[in-house]
Parts: sequence; C-alpha cells; structure tokens
Amino acid sequence: MAGLSRSLDRLKDRYDVIVVGSGYGGGVAASRLARAGKRVAVLERGREVLTGGFPSRFPDLKNELQVRGKRLRTGSSSALYDVRLGEDMHVLVGCGLGGGSLVNAGVALRPDARVFADEIWPGQIAQDGLLAEGFKRAGRWLRPQSDPRAATLTKYKALATAGKGLGHTPIAPTVTVSFEGGVNAAGVDQPACTRCGDCCGGCNVGAKTSVALTYLADAARHGAELFTHAGVRHVAKGKDGAWTVHVRRLDANGATPHDLVVSAPVVILGAGTLGSTEILLRSRANGLALSDRVGHRFSANGDIIAFGYGAKIPVDAIGVGYPAKIEGMEIGAAVSGQIEIDDAHDLANELRVQEGVLPSALAPALPVLFVPNGRLLGALQSLIAGVYKGPFSKLQTFFAVSHDSASGRFVLDDDDLKLVWPSAKDEPVYKRLDQILTAIVTEAGGSYVKNPLAGTVMGHQPATAHPLGGVGMGRERGDGAVNHKGQVFDAGAGAGSTVVHEGLYVVDGAVMPRSLGVNPLLTITALAERAMLHMAQDYGLAFDDAAVGGVPVAPSDLGAIVAA
Ligand SMILES: Cc1cc2nc3c(=O)[nH]c(=O)nc-3n(C[C@H](O)[C@H](O)[C@H](O)COP(=O)(O)OP(=O)(O)OC[C@H]3O[C@@H](n4cnc5c(N)ncnc54)[C@H](O)[C@@H]3O)c2cc1C
Ligand code: SF4
Repeated sequence: MAGLSRSLDRLKDRYDVIVVGSGYGGGVAASRLARAGKRVAVLERGREVLTGGFPSRFPDLKNELQVRGKRLRTGSSSALYDVRLGEDMHVLVGCGLGGGSLVNAGVALRPDARVFADEIWPGQIAQDGLLAEGFKRAGRWLRPQSDPRAATLTKYKALATAGKGLGHTPIAPTVTVSFEGGVNAAGVDQPACTRCGDCCGGCNVGAKTSVALTYLADAARHGAELFTHAGVRHVAKGKDGAWTVHVRRLDANGATPHDLVVSAPVVILGAGTLGSTEILLRSRANGLALSDRVGHRFSANGDIIAFGYGAKIPVDAIGVGYPAKIEGMEIGAAVSGQIEIDDAHDLANELRVQEGVLPSALAPALPVLFVPNGRLLGALQSLIAGVYKGPFSKLQTFFAVSHDSASGRFVLDDDDLKLVWPSAKDEPVYKRLDQILTAIVTEAGGSYVKNPLAGTVMGHQPATAHPLGGVGMGRERGDGAVNHKGQVFDAGAGAGSTVVHEGLYVVDGAVMPRSLGVNPLLTITALAERAMLHMAQDYGLAFDDAAVGGVPVAPSDLGAIVAA
C-alpha cells in the first residue's frame, strides 16, 4: 500500500510555501495553503506509518523509541516516540508524518474562556472572532465526539466508583475517534472504532482521526508535496528576500547525513514546541534577528501520567490491539472518562483527570515496570493472557491536566535543545495532582504509583506529553516571539517594535504563551486555522474548508490520493 509522502530525491529547489513539521499546526497550514493554489512542500523529520503498520508487539514498540538526554542519544531518528530526558523535566513528543496525532489519545477539549481572557495573549485573540471560527473549522475536520458506549466500559465504571467517594461523577470527554465510521472531510473512509485501546500505540484500524487521515491527506489531494526524513536545522533570509530552509537529510541509510537547501517566500514552522523553538534558536545563532523571548515561557500544561496499582475492582485498561490479541474484550479508546474539578474563583486550581489505556504492545513490559522482581514474574506471565487476567487487569492509568506557571526556558546547549526549569518539581500543581490521584486510587483500593521508572535513568523529575510555549505570542517583540497571527517578530527594529519578518510564521504548540488546562490539540488546530484565515486576508488568498467529495479512499491506502 502506498502513502502520501515522496522521496527527498524529488525535492525541488523552490516552492511558494514550505511547511516544516506535519502535526496539527503544520497539517492545517499545508491543507489550507494548498487549497489556495500555492505550491506547498511539507518537510517532516520522521517517517510515514500507514494504518496497519503501527507497533503491536513489544520488540517493535522498543524500536519506536528515540531517547535524548545529557550524554545520551539512542534509537532511530525516525522512531515514533521522541523522549527528551531533561535535568529538570522530561518531555515526550510524537515523530512521524502526522506528528503527535499518530500516538496521542485524541482527547479534544476547548479551554475554559478564562484562559483566553488572560492578558498574556495579544488582545486580538479574544477580540477579532477568528478564534471561534478556528475552533469551528477544527471541529469539522477532527470531529471530536464522546464514546456513546463509554459508560458501559469497565475502566469508565472503575473511574465512576473511585470518583463517587470523592463526590465526582465522570463524563465522557470528546476524542478524535470515529465511533460510527464514515467518510471524513478529507474523503478518507474511516472504519468504526473497535475499542481496542491502542490509540497511544497508533491506530491500526483507521478510526482515530489523525492529521495524516485529514489535513495531510487534504494537502496532498490539493497538490502539496510531502517529504519525510527531512530534519530542518535552521532558516535564513536569502539574498533575493526569500527564506532558505536548511535541511538535514535523514534517509541516508548508513551514508553520512548531508544537508539540502530549499527556498520559498513563505516558511511556516509547525515542528511542535520543541522543534520550532530549536529551529528558531539555531536560526538566531546563525544571525537571524529574533526577539529575546524565543525559548521562554515553556509550559508543561500541568500534565502528568500516573498509575494506580492493586485496585480491588476490575479496570481493564490494557489495550488488546487490532487484530485483537485476546477475543471478547472491549477496552474502549485510550480515554473514555474524565473527572472535572472546577474552580470558579481560581482557574489555576482547575484540573481534569482522565482514565487512560496503555497500548497492547507494552503489555509484556508491565511486570518489569510495576512489580519488585518483576522480571521473574514477567517470565512466569509470558502468556499474554496473564496481563489481561492477572493483577494488571486492575492497573489504573491516569492522564491529568491542569495549569502551571509556564516558567521553563529552552536554550541551545552545544547545538542541542535543552530545557531549563530548576523549580519545575515545586510547581503547586504537582502537589494538587498527587492529592487528588492518591484519593481516587485509594477509593479503588490500590496504591498510587507516580512514576514506575523513578530510580532508573528517568530519575524523579516530572514529565509531560503536552509541551507548550517557547515561541509564545505577544503584542511586541519585548513580550513575545510571534504576534497574534504567528508572524515572527524582527528584533532588528527598535525596542517595543511590532515589525515582523515578512513570510515567517509559527503555527504549533510553541506559540501558546501559557498553559491551557486541557489537552492542547484542539486549541493548536484552532489557532493554526485562525492564522491561515489571517494569512488569507493579508495575502489576498482564497480557500474554503469544505469537505471533499469523490470516491473515498481507505486509511491504509492514502497513496491513492497522490496517484489520482
Ligand atoms: C502519548 C501522547 C498522548 C497525547 N494525548 C493527547 C490527547 O489526548 N489530547 C491532546 O490534545 N494532546 C495529546 N497529546 C499532545 C498532542 O499530541 C500535542 O500537543 C500535539 O501533537 C502538538 O501539535 P503540534 O502541531 O504543536 O506538533 P506535533 O504534533 O508535535 O508535530 C510536530 C511535527 O514536527 C516534526 N518535527 C520536529 N522537528 C522537526 C524538524 N527540525 N524538521 C522537520 N520536522 C520536525 C515532528 O516529527 C512532528 O511530526 C499527547 C501526546 C503524546 C505524546
Ligand atoms: S480504540 Fe483502537 S480502533 Fe479505536 S481509535 Fe483507538 S486504536 Fe483506533
């Protein structure tokens, strides 16, 4: 089966628009500008994984880890999970054509209105009405929905039981999963979710509404050229006024990686919080005049993953995968239930606790992670069914999201991105999360396991899968790195200047100047849609977001779109 991407051998020297990265922000930009008739190239560092090709066995999953830390670099540069071990905090992001959407849980929520009322945002965000339109468009394309059968799932009932003692009743949050099946806005015929639970390992059914199955498929249908294994190093202003993008070719197959240069009058960075910040920091080191706010205001979105071990009630929150490893079990999507803790007086105290599922490929590693002498137990439980029937059928996984002070900072250390946030572990949010999760786990009769890998190379630092900021929005170059449209401030102009670098944009999670308090994908998508609406006005472009018609394609055969 063929995919959307093509070999870097076919990369041309020049395009109208170059989009760097292919997650939510990059996907939106590629689709909308290809619809506007622009010659678009998308440069993604990871590889393309088609539906059916996501890891389903532990040895495959292990090969999908790339880990970077102090004096540590292991795994393939095209592995799906990119783990950055930091001295103050660890960060996990997705890598591949589709970005984080390939391996995320798909929870798609709108932040509390107080988030956008914060004066940290440039005023236009709350005032010009285009953010609301951005959310509408994101909703039409990602189709967030609650599982209509959520309340029948064991893991949902377990959350309800645990929440009852604390006076909280769960709700079914909206997720980017197609529960009924059907043709999406990009003309991809998504089968109905089998509730296999493997969303965070990658959906082998095609029911998770990823960026690959929506915005990127649409971009390719409208003529965009999508390239993988293209790691962008930095951007610079060319002599003719166009941008040059310096790309490290990562598909060398053992040959020495070498660099390519491609140019365009418009470059849109959608390489995610880590990627876009790193590219801009390196561009600044190479002479591009950027605001000294680049690198600042990193937020972990008050996010943690934690566990409850030894519950007295069944939970059934280990994925069975597709094709199912064990018959007759309906697990549910990675998140089906959420407890909402609101605070009308103090937004910072709001938090969302979601019950989560671990992907089936991780099942054989669980005894090693959670049980002393687990290696022995792991050997005894080598029959896969053991994980579904034994103590791990009562393992609770939680994703919790709240707010933090966004005081992390990225710097370049020996040309590598480094996160500095010495006080991160003392953020009040972690104490609150520990208290509420301990109470929930205790209600279920289990013990709270904050980090099963503490004491290993992971240490005791907090970790996040929701990195935000680094290229935060502001009113002028003194308080932000980009303006409300995602245009990058030009520090060559005087202090307090709002002058931007014409044609250079950032449209991903990096532009958030603060935590969102909910899982970020919907806001990132909405703000990217909004940035494209502003670009249309500024450049006189015309595009709509109407659903495509014609013969639908299967999720495992997106190449049919390129061939057509
Ligand atoms: C396991 C997991 C579960 C999650 N669950 C949820 C959830 O349920 N709901 C939610 O809202 N969020 C969730 N998230 C977070 C969410 O996926 C991210 O916030 C979101 O994907 C960020 O979108 P983005 O457009 O900013 O960048 P990304 O989606 O991270 O995309 C950036 C892309 O750019 C590429 N790239 C990076 N650097 C370069 C470079 N130098 N050159 C070329 N390409 C580059 C990357 O490989 C990547 O494909 C989860 C994340 C993980 C890891
Ligand atoms: S539960 Fe399974 S089928 Fe449903 S979206 Fe997640 S991975 Fe896909």
